[in-house]
Amino acid sequence: MPRILQIAQLGHPVLQARAEEVEGVTEPQIQSLINDMLITVMDANGVGLAAPQVYAPVRIIIVASRPGVRYPDAPEMEPAAMINPEILWASEEQVTGWEGCLSAPGVRAPVPRAEQVTLQYLTRNGEQNEAAFTAFLARIIQHECDHLDGISFLERVAHPREIVMEKEFLRRTEG
Ligand code: ZN
Repeated sequence: MPRILQIAQLGHPVLQARAEEVEGVTEPQIQSLINDMLITVMDANGVGLAAPQVYAPVRIIIVASRPGVRYPDAPEMEPAAMINPEILWASEEQVTGWEGCLSAPGVRAPVPRAEQVTLQYLTRNGEQNEAAFTAFLARIIQHECDHLDGISFLERVAHPREIVMEKEFLRRTEG
């Protein structure tokens, strides 16, 4: 039975370390971690989750974009686990968009990211895959891959004074 995992909060050492490559993708403990991450990200209304966020220092990300309370305009997709992801190419063109993080509840900030990325990764079945992502999905990929290298989205903010609390973010977007 998959279980909802605790989410590490910003400042915890697991979020500041480089996560290790996964060796045996199809091993039961990896498969069960993926299942747990999938229900954890859904439960938390997230659109992405990296394994270090659930105290597992391994290179696994979940991308689970869908419209919801935290991101009303997010595109809908089938949630996917990407193992040992590597950004092979990122467009020079950058776009700035609002981000939040399950490890920093209540905080939002505009973050410049590449508009498009090409990602190489293993699927949960251990198959090598390569895919291109644009716009919000590219943003999620970059945010989650950063977690695997111990980097938080707040380190990517262009100007610290642009960091706002969610209440203020909602006031601006609903205004
Ligand atoms: Zn995050």
